Amino acid sequence: MLLWMRKGCVFALFFVLGGCAYLEPLVQDFNIISVSEERQLGQQFAEQISKEMVLVEDPQFTGPVRRIGSQLVAGLRHRDFDYHFYVVKDASPNAFTIPGGSIYVHTGLFKLVGDDSELAGVLGHEIGHAYERHPAKAMSRSYGADFLTNLLLGSKNNNQIRSAALQIAKGGILTRYSREEELVADEVGYHLIRRAGYPGDGLVRFLKKLQSQGSGLSILSTHPPTPERVARLEALQRQDQNIPAGDQRRLI
Ligand code: ZN
Repeated sequence: MLLWMRKGCVFALFFVLGGCAYLEPLVQDFNIISVSEERQLGQQFAEQISKEMVLVEDPQFTGPVRRIGSQLVAGLRHRDFDYHFYVVKDASPNAFTIPGGSIYVHTGLFKLVGDDSELAGVLGHEIGHAYERHPAKAMSRSYGADFLTNLLLGSKNNNQIRSAALQIAKGGILTRYSREEELVADEVGYHLIRRAGYPGDGLVRFLKKLQSQGSGLSILSTHPPTPERVARLEALQRQDQNIPAGDQRRLI
C-alpha cells in the first residue's frame, strides 16, 4: 500500500493531524500500513529487539506467558498475524506490543502480577492492541509515508529500523496510544480472558495495584491505569456476571 501511496499520504497525514478535535476518531483509525506490510515491519522490529534487548528463555517466565498467551489468542475471531510471546530482561514492570502481533513482557512485571488471572489481564490488553492494529496506527499517525516506505525497503535503513523498533519497545512519545485505544484494548482483552475461562477481574486488580504504587513506573505512562479504565472494566464485569466463564458470545 505504502509503495504506491507515497507522497500523497504525507499531505493527507498532515491535513488529518492538523485538524480539530472533532476529527479525533478519524485520526485514531488512520492506518497507511497494510497487514502484509505490518507483518514485514514486525519481523524487522523483532530482529532489532533481539539484538538490543536481552530475551529471556527461562521457562519460569516464558512458560506462563506463552501458555496463557496462546489460550487467549485462541479466542480471537480472526487473526491477521501469528502471535508470538517473548520475555525481555528489564526490571521495570511493563509489557509492549510491536507491529505484527509480537508481544513482549518485562521480567519486572512478574514482581507485580499476583496470579495467572492478573497476567492474563495484562496479556489480553496487549493482544487487544495487536488485534486492533494499534501499533501500526500509532506509527501511521506519527511517521510520514516516506519514512515508513524507507523502513519497508529494508536493509539499507538499519538505523531507522533500529530507532523505530526502540521507540515502540520503550514506549516513546511517537508511538503512544490514545485514550480510546487503551479502552478498546481493555475491552478486547476482557472478552478474551473470559472466553479462556479466567475470572474477569484480573486486569482491574492489576491496575489498582499499579495505582497504589504511585507514579514512576514506566507502565503508567505507556498504558496509564486511569480511573476511567477501571470503571469501564468493572461495568463489563457487571454486564456479564450471570454468564458462566468460558461462555462469552460477544463479538470482537
Ligand atoms: Zn495499552
